[in-house]
Amino acid sequence: TVRVSALAKAYGANQVLRNINLEVARGEVVVIMGPSGSGKTTFIRSLNLLELPDRGSIEICGVALNDPAMLPARELRRKTLQIRQQTAMVFQSFNLFPHMTALQNVIEGLVSVKGVAKAEARERGLALLGKVGLAEKADAYPGKLSGGQKQRVAIARALAMDPEVILFDEPTSALDPELRDDVLNVMRALAAEGMTMLVVTHETRFARDVADRIIFMEGGHVLEDTTPSLFFGTQGSERSRQFLGRLH
Ligand code: ATP
Repeated sequence: TVRVSALAKAYGANQVLRNINLEVARGEVVVIMGPSGSGKTTFIRSLNLLELPDRGSIEICGVALNDPAMLPARELRRKTLQIRQQTAMVFQSFNLFPHMTALQNVIEGLVSVKGVAKAEARERGLALLGKVGLAEKADAYPGKLSGGQKQRVAIARALAMDPEVILFDEPTSALDPELRDDVLNVMRALAAEGMTMLVVTHETRFARDVADRIIFMEGGHVLEDTTPSLFFGTQGSERSRQFLGRLH
């Protein structure tokens, strides 16, 4: 479903991604961990071209891009749209429209991008809000929702597009600890349903319980691509143990 090879990206002199290689199969849950500044966010944003990599190739849901920065603008735009139709993103900062209700946020893409009729979109949106435990908040504006509720609306919005893959960029980092579990439980349920997920997170319990694989990044490299039991076990590399030691 996702194949990345030799991906590289610099911001000026700061080489943030160096030769990243990764394959993710359909239905896999891959958690990306690593110290601050290791390039996790830049990497996951590169997958749906929110950041434009300098070099390398991305294949996601059958759409392939080689050296996207070299493509003619039209071609890049076309492929970016194709990728975004199948790849939803959930951000640390929710990114809901403040002037729209929860339900309007969820169905906005369905109506404006997918051209689904309003009544049908409403019905699907309400079902998805039910799925994330927020049926009763359909008409609430984001300003009246807690961070955890906002993030669950954002997940419902991602699901509304019926994506093949969901990319999560530190979905619980902006939340108070007591609100995180509601979001993590929704993510657990998605994983159990077989959704393909790439998740940048520092939530070790989620990673241990839910991930099929852990990617450990540092300095723009994938240092480890391993199982949770190896990563969190006593056999883990010295570097990853050091990293985990600092998280607790
Ligand atoms: P964190 O865990 O702190 O979110 P991260 O592993 O996600 O870190 P990135 O956010 O990908 O790391 O950032 C990697 C490096 O790229 C950092 O040095 C950061 O300052 C730099 N960087 C990120 N985005 C930009 C940008 N838009 N312009 C310039 N530099 C950037």
